Amino acid sequence: MVNSFLKEKYGISDKILELSKKADIKAAEAYKKAEEICEYNSLRVLKAFADHNVSEAHLGVSTGYGYDDVGRDTLERIYADMFGGEDALVRHNIVNGTMAIATCLYGVLRPGDTLVAATGKPYDTLEEVIGIRSGSSGSLKDFGINYRQVDMIDSKVDFDGLAEAIDDSVKAVIIQRSKGYDWRDTYSVDGIGEIIAFVKSINKNIICIVDNCYGEFAEEKEPCSVGADLIVGSLIKNPGGGLAMSGGYIVGTKEAVEKVSYRLTCPGIGRECGATLGNNRTMYQGFFMAPHVVCNAVKAGIFCSALFEELGYEVNPSSDAFRSDIITSVKLGSEEKLIAFCRGIQQGAPIDSFVVPMPWDMPGYENQVIMAAGAFVQGSSIEISADGPIKPPYTAYFQGGLTFETARLAIMLAAENVLSESNK
Ligand SMILES: *Cc1c(COP(=O)(O)O)cnc(C)c1O
Repeated sequence: MVNSFLKEKYGISDKILELSKKADIKAAEAYKKAEEICEYNSLRVLKAFADHNVSEAHLGVSTGYGYDDVGRDTLERIYADMFGGEDALVRHNIVNGTMAIATCLYGVLRPGDTLVAATGKPYDTLEEVIGIRSGSSGSLKDFGINYRQVDMIDSKVDFDGLAEAIDDSVKAVIIQRSKGYDWRDTYSVDGIGEIIAFVKSINKNIICIVDNCYGEFAEEKEPCSVGADLIVGSLIKNPGGGLAMSGGYIVGTKEAVEKVSYRLTCPGIGRECGATLGNNRTMYQGFFMAPHVVCNAVKAGIFCSALFEELGYEVNPSSDAFRSDIITSVKLGSEEKLIAFCRGIQQGAPIDSFVVPMPWDMPGYENQVIMAAGAFVQGSSIEISADGPIKPPYTAYFQGGLTFETARLAIMLAAENVLSESNK
């Protein structure tokens, strides 16, 4: 029934239907592993809700200063428990992941301190925060904070380089879990634990900050459980479960989170203020749904890898590889195929399925970029999306998918488009 629907309504060819079936068979073991992680994490979230006696009252609205918002304060306790920290800040008015990370950096670093990036160049948007890109006003550099970067070697941290980079001025080390837009392996939580143990063996007072974007709920634990002082992410990615309408979180040690709270609001006020304005309900429900939604996104990634392997493309991670985030990259090899891929994903999105993505000159990027996104929440990348810079090797980065069933179709559409491009 499904196949004839896909054929009649979406024009999926027999060839792609057949390869998709093969891909599912090949991926069965990986799907099962993702579902096991999902079950465990779903039950943990449920238990955390029960342990904190979450009730209707927690879903309410506060205004003005937002003092004693029981919903906000309890959700922060739940995030801390779930992610293995002592304390947390979870706020709808953290505008994105970049702000959440920046708030941590400005919260713990002081003039004269040095920040070290252990996993190479951080995510693009942090360049202006750190002051790597010239002319950014108000950067850490502007405030007299130094920066050193240790590039990775073959997807692994260069431990010798890291040891060299750490002197007495180093106050914090930042570690990025997800590969982001690099062709490297995503760091596992245990792998992050090894980096942190190494840093702490040099100086136990160095604050280890993990950019946890895209990683939440992909494994059974988060980096606070392996010694991270602060972990950070966006609510329009994994932990918002596709329902949170904006926001970010910061989880960590009591001391570090307190410092960050004085930067998030202001000294003396810290976490005590922050009206939730009606956002509690979707933030709770989104967190409840998050393990399941992340599982759908992970399974979509596995299917994408498996299907494009069948079609003969290089993918990362491979369909049977361990996954610690929701991003899958496919090396398509030509501009036409990259565009075809993104257009297929767009056709399979619930919102704006009729839109035809085009390459464009995105501010801050050297090359043109193409993006497919059709989301209920603007820019939400736990929802289905794909993008890539128009430059060799023409890699598409695919992520998200609120439901596996619909994401699977979007990937078939992408494959169909790429196939007809290669038959030209
Ligand atoms: C998304 C992301 C960020 C932050 O990006 P925003 O667009 O500001 O939310 C930072 N690091 C990584 C690895 C990310 O994936």
